[in-house]
Amino acid sequence: MRCGMIRRPGQVFVLLLLLLGCDRNLEVTRPTDDVLLEPNVEFEPGFVPAVEKCQWFDDKTAAYTVSFDDAKVTHYQVSGPILKQRNICGTFFINTREIVDWSGWQQLADMGHEIGSHSYSHPKMTELTEAQQRAELERAIADIRTHLRGSPPVYSFCYPYGLFNDELRRVVMDYHITARGGGAVNPIDMSDYDLSLAHGTGVYPPFDMAMIAGWVDKAIAKKAWVNVYFHSVSAKGDSNDTTIPVRYFNEHLDYVEQVRDKLWIATQGQVAHYIRLRREAKISVEVIDQTGFKVALYNLPDRIPEMTRLTVRMKMPLDWRNQKIILRKQDTKGYQLLKSEDDTACFNIGKTDILYIEAKKSLAQ
Ligand SMILES: [Zn+2]
Repeated sequence: MRCGMIRRPGQVFVLLLLLLGCDRNLEVTRPTDDVLLEPNVEFEPGFVPAVEKCQWFDDKTAAYTVSFDDAKVTHYQVSGPILKQRNICGTFFINTREIVDWSGWQQLADMGHEIGSHSYSHPKMTELTEAQQRAELERAIADIRTHLRGSPPVYSFCYPYGLFNDELRRVVMDYHITARGGGAVNPIDMSDYDLSLAHGTGVYPPFDMAMIAGWVDKAIAKKAWVNVYFHSVSAKGDSNDTTIPVRYFNEHLDYVEQVRDKLWIATQGQVAHYIRLRREAKISVEVIDQTGFKVALYNLPDRIPEMTRLTVRMKMPLDWRNQKIILRKQDTKGYQLLKSEDDTACFNIGKTDILYIEAKKSLAQ
């Protein structure tokens, strides 16, 4: 089972959407009611539900990424198995010149982790000519795409030594959709947020785990995105400037799991794709004969993977709370019940999804 696929009650419909897959160019027409005995709720003429994009996927309060630098063997020997146990996916930034055996990195990719670039040889990129910078970036991407099964795209980059300048940021974004630096929790306002400098908070001696938990708390308080990054994690418990004993790593992840309900745990690339989709995509809501709505996305940014979903909140009429809200895709016979809380429906929609939403009078009343 890949990360993020645990079935929890509130996520059932999300999972089903993933399983249904996507059909392009679907034309939605009013579904027939031969299966459902209950009548449709008729909305007031002229009513169009208000829709808004949620800050984070699944309407979580904050986004959390765990990432790993420098292509250490402990990443797949120690950190990978721990993350798998906890059903957490992260991003591994690898400087590919170091790698002789790719099998461990393939295992991490197979578990659903993102393999990002940390350049080819981990130089001080700001001291290179532009041609040299491009050679570093292109070589690392070529290595990853050549050695990993399926030649996965390399969406994310991490600046070696945390060094960058405006020119380098521009060059990096010719190849990637996001790059991680150091320093802080990301700002809340995503409207003009520059993904060429996503912040990360590094874990260094003396491994003050309460402080690191505080970064997560800060992200939750600000509804922001925190990326916590590690270098080597030692199973033996030894430590140095970049090696953390495994018990501290576990302590951090224990805290993350404690507040997991509030967090969207995702890779650097997944969060960046969501931010781009949230920023640029537009939502069309079309009323169909007063009893249902057709919902789709348009004006999509490039390079958005098929699996990326935008979470949308739709305000329904007030009497909705005693209804069953049905969400379905025209190409399937089945339907999905959305959580029926208050007068607001939240759902996730992919770039090729066309959803149909309607309300049925509940038989339970
Ligand atoms: Zn590094």
